[in-house]
Amino acid sequence: MAYDRDNIFAKILRGEIPCNKVYEDDFVLAFHDINPQAPIHVLVIPKGEYVSMADFTANAPDELIVGFVRGIGKVARDLGLEDPGYRILANAGPDSHQEVPHLHVHIFGGRKLGPMLVRS
Ligand code: AMP
Repeated sequence: MAYDRDNIFAKILRGEIPCNKVYEDDFVLAFHDINPQAPIHVLVIPKGEYVSMADFTANAPDELIVGFVRGIGKVARDLGLEDPGYRILANAGPDSHQEVPHLHVHIFGGRKLGPMLVRS
């Protein structure tokens, strides 16, 4: 799937629409999800044009891959989630219900999160 430069996270990265920022460095931007599914629900996105984890791991430079993974860990730590625990999740493609075609990792925490998948 080709990257769509008009997706909402691309617009956030370009500063065209606002976000509730949690953390930013050269590699990542982290912000609160607009429709939180847990008391803490933060999205971490890499600073680059990648649709999915498969696209990212195949095509991103090593420095960005390292920076993205470090950024996810740092944000979870800084949110105080290391001791109580948390969940990270990345949707990819139609079966996962990925809505925004820019790679993002969800960080959920702040309550008991229950079983990993909800039956539908
Ligand atoms: P996904 O289904 O994995 O693609 O998740 C996309 C997520 O982006 C959803 O949880 C949305 O609530 C969230 N979202 C959509 N637009 C925004 C926005 N402008 N700011 C923050 N989160 C957003």
